[in-house]
Amino acid sequence: MAINSPLATQVLMISLVFASTLPAAGWCAESVKPNVFIAATGGTIAGTQANVEQHGYTAGQLGVASLIAAVPQLKDIAAVTGEQVMNIPSQDMNDAAWLKLARRLEELEHSAGLDGIVVTHGTDTMEETSMFVALTVDTPKPIVFTGSMRPATAVSADGPMNLYNAVAVAGSAAARSCGVMVAFNDQIHSARYVYKTNTTRPDAFQSVDRGPIGTVDTGQVDIFGVCAAGTASPAPKVPIADIHELPKVEIIYAYAGMGRDLIDAAVHAGAKGLVIAGVGDGNITNEALAGLRDARAKGTVIVRSTRVVSGFTLRNAEVNDDTEGFVASSEFKPSKARVVLQIALLKTSSLSEIQKYFDTW
Ligand code: ASP
Repeated sequence: MAINSPLATQVLMISLVFASTLPAAGWCAESVKPNVFIAATGGTIAGTQANVEQHGYTAGQLGVASLIAAVPQLKDIAAVTGEQVMNIPSQDMNDAAWLKLARRLEELEHSAGLDGIVVTHGTDTMEETSMFVALTVDTPKPIVFTGSMRPATAVSADGPMNLYNAVAVAGSAAARSCGVMVAFNDQIHSARYVYKTNTTRPDAFQSVDRGPIGTVDTGQVDIFGVCAAGTASPAPKVPIADIHELPKVEIIYAYAGMGRDLIDAAVHAGAKGLVIAGVGDGNITNEALAGLRDARAKGTVIVRSTRVVSGFTLRNAEVNDDTEGFVASSEFKPSKARVVLQIALLKTSSLSEIQKYFDTW
């Protein structure tokens, strides 16, 4: 479904500020529940099946009111309001949808009376959208992405508990300096570190090189030490108020016997940057390397990343990045490396600056 369709763009302001959560006269401040806003974008958490005994389903079918109504226990931990920002399967996320969501989140971050924000989102591209938001939105309040691996109608759907836990994290004082997170299957991850690592199971998300930054067990939030150090939530790198388009960056997957055709095609199609999902430590065949050299000569920025699930891609290992004029993706796997490069290219075309961003963002 296109994001500008009437259903997707409708703004459903759901006032679910439950009477029991409102401070009564004489309450002490501690008894006031946090105000948490749910920005819904679709995904399997909003998905439905025609037949619960079959695998097939359609993502992005239910509205935010249904998601909230499915978890009446939310009223015990927060005053929840919500809005349908879009309603799409996350494989349809794109630059325009990211910019729209980031702009709305930026407004919410600076609106009075909110303590935290939950974004419900499909799992397929959650690692990219959350990274984009982490690099572009100022986060005085926590932003917590969540979703589900099973549709809302499934036997033992995982969405309701994920939503409950995400609301608990967003409303928790401990999460206030954590920036953008993903709360999924009882774990809390930094948006910078997390990847989807399983196609179907509820434990699909892992921070493969760093581990989770906390846990959340039926609403009990335990954030480990990292947020206090500020490493999980540095300031946004590029505010997007004046940005209306992102640079075209392609990802090209390497393999034994790889040729250069896809590299040439990407450059021909106008790519400003290429992220190589290299074999091993960001390696590629000699033929593909020749293609990258020609791409570089035309001004395309080349980032070497890896198709391997864990580990960093460091400079000057088997490919001499200094000589070739390439950038090494450091800890970012291709999906996040593409986002980092898109944002970096908004700021600069200097290779040393871009390398610095990959090393420090
Ligand atoms: N394809 C779905 C999506 O990303 C998968 C999910 O949400 O789990 O929207």
